[in-house]
Amino acid sequence: MAENNKEKVTEISQLGEFGLIDHLTKDFPLKNESSVLGVGDDAAIIDVPEGKEALVTTDLLLEGIHFDVRYVPLKHLGYKAAVVNFSDVYAMNGTPKQITVSLGVSSRFTVEHIEQIYAGIRLACENYGVDLVGGDTSASQTGLVISITCLGEVEKGKAVKRSGAKETDLICVSGDLGAAYMGLQLLERENQVAAQSGDPNFQPNFAGKEYILERQLKPEARKDIIEKLNAAGIIPTSMMDVSDGLSSELLHICKSSDVGCRVYEDRIPIDYQTAVMAEELNMNLVTAAMNGGEDYELLFTVPLTDKDKIEKIEGVKMIGYITKPSLGAALITRDGQEFPIKAQGWQAF
Ligand code: ADP
Ligand code: MG
Repeated sequence: MAENNKEKVTEISQLGEFGLIDHLTKDFPLKNESSVLGVGDDAAIIDVPEGKEALVTTDLLLEGIHFDVRYVPLKHLGYKAAVVNFSDVYAMNGTPKQITVSLGVSSRFTVEHIEQIYAGIRLACENYGVDLVGGDTSASQTGLVISITCLGEVEKGKAVKRSGAKETDLICVSGDLGAAYMGLQLLERENQVAAQSGDPNFQPNFAGKEYILERQLKPEARKDIIEKLNAAGIIPTSMMDVSDGLSSELLHICKSSDVGCRVYEDRIPIDYQTAVMAEELNMNLVTAAMNGGEDYELLFTVPLTDKDKIEKIEGVKMIGYITKPSLGAALITRDGQEFPIKAQGWQAF
């Protein structure tokens, strides 16, 4: 297992279920006013302030399906498990406030392993101002299971859904795309090389590829973009986060909003390291950027009248526009050809 603590090994049975919960949750002081009661009772108590609405989102992560403990450090896994939930709350134009963490732990895991997961969860909670207020803990026969539920709040009526995009709206995306997917390809390649070498001291070669690796292992939620949009007085007409890949998310917005779209291939933001890795692996770069998941960037639409404001926001790019539904969703290539957008997003089933 990655980042195995070799010095100390405490079996979970030594602490017992309640001892483990106490041990894991003792360093999580509550920060938010709305967190009225946290861990330790049958349920947490959350206040929904006057004029606000509560948002709830949940994510389930299964070992072997969503992550591989051979090359994902457990602290990163905890961080990512929390951040992907925060990303969903920001994608509604909200602010994440509380999480609950449910764990299924297989017997291969020690107390120190679970501590690492919680160290990652704690860091994510600190970075984003979120409180841990509860959870559930159980043994698992099918590997590690982590499920995080996040509560957030948004001004009443200000939540941004997928369904509000209108004809002529501009389509915008934050950051860059495809890097997390290329980071995963890199991790898988180095893991294979390590296995084939048979050398237990094999050192993977990540030089010059730090960015794509970080995008895969330690994604961030775009709190900053939500703040910038608010400051600029821009309210997106529709919004979602890019977790399954741009193609799939564009189709979600088109379906929910009953519109079509045109996206320009040459406007899709791609980092240099993503391009280098795609070249090395002989993969089509645009396909990777359109269909690689886990970028956790924000995809949103704004009225055409917000164009000047959007141009001033650093880290946001206009990639296309919304059309009437009969035109469907299409990508316009560099040479002006139109290709229908199909969802090839990552699918576990
Ligand atoms: P119950 O029997 O009601 O499910 P538990 O004994 O499972 O209660 O949990 C006791 C308290 O510890 C509850 O407040 C619960 O939310 C919290 N808790 C349990 N497991 C976790 C966990 N993995 N992380 C954080 N809090 C937890
Ligand atoms: Mg319980």
